[in-house]
Amino acid sequence: MTNNANDQLLVAEGPSPNGHAGDGVQDHRDSFATRAIHVGSAPDPVTGAIIPALHTATTYKQSGVGKPIGGHDYSRGSNPTRNSLESLLTSLETCPDSRTSVDGHDDASGGEALVFASGSAATAAMSYWASLQRSEGGGGGTDGVKGGGGHVLAVNDCYGGTARFLSRAIQATGVEVTYLDFEAAGEEGIRAAIRPDTRLLWLEIPTNPLLLVPPLPLIAKIVHSLPADTRPLIVVDTTFLSPFYTTPLVPVTPDALPLADVILTSLSKYSSGHSDIILGSLTLSPDLVRSRPYVLQGLRFLQNSFGGVPSPRDCHLMIRSIKTLGVRALRHGLNALRVADWLSRHPGVEDVRYPGLATSVAFHQIESLLSANARKELQYLGWSFPYQASKGGKEGMLAHTRTLGVPFGGMIAFRLKGADEETTGKWLTSLRLISLAESLGGVESLVEAPYGMTHASLPAATREKLGITPSLIRLSVGIEDVDDLIADLEQAMERM
Ligand SMILES: *Cc1c(COP(=O)(O)O)cnc(C)c1O
Repeated sequence: MTNNANDQLLVAEGPSPNGHAGDGVQDHRDSFATRAIHVGSAPDPVTGAIIPALHTATTYKQSGVGKPIGGHDYSRGSNPTRNSLESLLTSLETCPDSRTSVDGHDDASGGEALVFASGSAATAAMSYWASLQRSEGGGGGTDGVKGGGGHVLAVNDCYGGTARFLSRAIQATGVEVTYLDFEAAGEEGIRAAIRPDTRLLWLEIPTNPLLLVPPLPLIAKIVHSLPADTRPLIVVDTTFLSPFYTTPLVPVTPDALPLADVILTSLSKYSSGHSDIILGSLTLSPDLVRSRPYVLQGLRFLQNSFGGVPSPRDCHLMIRSIKTLGVRALRHGLNALRVADWLSRHPGVEDVRYPGLATSVAFHQIESLLSANARKELQYLGWSFPYQASKGGKEGMLAHTRTLGVPFGGMIAFRLKGADEETTGKWLTSLRLISLAESLGGVESLVEAPYGMTHASLPAATREKLGITPSLIRLSVGIEDVDDLIADLEQAMERM
């Protein structure tokens, strides 16, 4: 377990730092937007500074041999700034409206987040865990005990870097990886693809770049029908949505099981929001930490042993960034819904994919995945659930946007009709505001061609099978004025 100084201040005994008597914890059922600002960011109890100090120390004084004063010994293992970010992520990923302590630190869910130097470092630790020996907290590999080997069943259309890691970098551990189109496989196909030595099911919501939504409730039902102590863990990469839109670690009803065991996030995207930090995280569900505590120990062991940990400076900046995640994510979604609708009505465009668009194939799954928090924010803006297209209003107004579907992230994929690689390239470089670049989730809109950029390292046959054609475009809709974005797309279309 980590030495979390914040937690130590907040164990439910003795007076709290704020001087409250009793157990130091009072219930506050704070919502997402509130926790995004306050959890892990309590005013400094000594100076009163509204923003916590940045702790850059690599090592910590001890009061005796093996007795660190504040619970930290060396900063790779733990440090106060990273711990604050981990508390914040735990709160946002695992609590619908958590119990927070009087000073805003505590999340009482029992889940736990681990922060890594990048989403890819989190991927490395998680997939290595499958083959790590059980005595170190791992999945135990082929026989579930000794380590080495084991099996990972991954969604076929996954992030290029994840595919690279699973297909190539992890191979030396003997882990076998197979890929499955979970939606096409159906219940029987999924059951058949899970082996006795399957340690992980690796999913993305939505997938990248085609924005498909795997049937998570069905997958969870299948996995939970297997023996509880050896069943594979469900890992879901929710980078494209952020915990604002989806929180599969939070059970839909209090007595239901969560839809996932571990959430993997590249914080470099929406959580950073400003395209200036590379960081990643794994968050474990409270249920997993309770029922299989060795998983947390194994992952902490790997975090410390691999050393793929972030700088406290990046963690500090990330805490700052996440404070505005709620407002940014909502605006990304509102803009994306409008842009997706515009694209779907344009004669030069085909196969528009935005899961929140009422006409999209994935739309029927949105309501089961939309977080309670996003639902609440959208209801405030006039949406009603179960979704009903409201009467509408003038184009461009919120009432009109409500007729189009439900905001669900800021990512859109589409194809330019009849375009080859060259025409697509020309179109991409004729945009004025929207930059041609990899990555996503920043306040500025970005566009890319997966065929020649993010997914260029996939074998040509795989790209073709997945539908990653030269005319496919992935758009990360920023939070600029949406009419300006549409005007930019329009002028590029006119120049085709
Ligand atoms: C970017 C990304 C990653 C990798 O994260 P890094 O922080 O770039 O290492 C993993 N999964 C998805 C879906 C991503 O978009």
